[in-house]
Amino acid sequence: MTAPKRRVAPPKALVEALLGCRKVAMLTHINPDGDGLGSQAALALALRSLGKTVVVANNDATPGQYSFLGLDAFAGDPSGSDLALSLDCPVLDRLGPRGKAAFLAAPGGAVIDHHVPKDPFGKSVWIEEGAAATGEMIEALLPELGVALTPAMATALYAAMVNDTGCFRHSNTDAFTFAVAVRLLEAGADSRDVNRRLMDEKPLRQVRLQAHILDSLRSLAGGRAALVTVSAADLAAYSATWEDTDGLAETLRSIEGVEVGAMLREEGPLAAKLSLRSKFGFDVNAFAHQWGGGGHAKAAGATLKLPFAEAVQRVSEALDSEISAARRV
Ligand code: 5GP
Ligand code: MN
Repeated sequence: MTAPKRRVAPPKALVEALLGCRKVAMLTHINPDGDGLGSQAALALALRSLGKTVVVANNDATPGQYSFLGLDAFAGDPSGSDLALSLDCPVLDRLGPRGKAAFLAAPGGAVIDHHVPKDPFGKSVWIEEGAAATGEMIEALLPELGVALTPAMATALYAAMVNDTGCFRHSNTDAFTFAVAVRLLEAGADSRDVNRRLMDEKPLRQVRLQAHILDSLRSLAGGRAALVTVSAADLAAYSATWEDTDGLAETLRSIEGVEVGAMLREEGPLAAKLSLRSKFGFDVNAFAHQWGGGGHAKAAGATLKLPFAEAVQRVSEALDSEISAARRV
């Protein structure tokens, strides 16, 4: 067994920007997830321990599932920040209108992410395409800031990693990822609590909504792709929100013979959110790019500015033809 070769190393300029600042406005992408939020919680605690003022100024509210991260303690007014820090967000617009305004208002703009940006933004940028999660990068950053992991920071980073690796199952999980997880557990991460909250518990309405949605899945490309659609009316019928559609694309991908699982959710009269998960070689990042989105080769998404019925029609046709044409593995 060889030692893990992969390393993530923060650039000096970023470390200096963080050590030199007085007030930080911290941001993550719209529809925030456990990686962005967990990374924020750990880094906010670290920067506060260094005497910095930290305001978490995300565009969207923290989903209830992640309230245990304690981000409420960092709520406030981001104005007057000398540094804005975007975590886990490769596109400026994906910070949302309020998040984007807060980012642009600060004289210093830093970015920490594991997505390759299409249109890079920020002055001090740290991108690690190979990192399984932004949380993995924060674990490497803290010692550079001279901060030792506390149990609360370790728990938040563990949550970030569980979120983006599907609890250490996805193909982005390697020996380095496990080595980081070991360090987090040694520092006191409450892995059992995080595993239960993120993996083993969901609201009843979510299970009922997903049962209803999965009942009408569409099989495409001769069974090599599967698509579900979630209309605004479906969400309303189950008193559900966007968070309750989490995991649908993964469930479709888990079907035998299915290479790509896809979910389309109506977000407004001219907005449809696409979520894609790939099992083998089909690059869903490239597919999402066609629709103005992005992500990773095996997990990607986009927001289509189309009426819902048209978005469903066009995405179904594209998945059907592109996956039919792709080499079968
Ligand atoms: P999800 O399907 O869970 O929303 O997202 C899966 C992956 O795709 C994540 O890495 C996420 O950041 C990325 N992603 C989802 N939607 C978009 C989008 O509209 N634009 C970009 N650039 N990436 C997205
Ligand atoms: Mn992430």
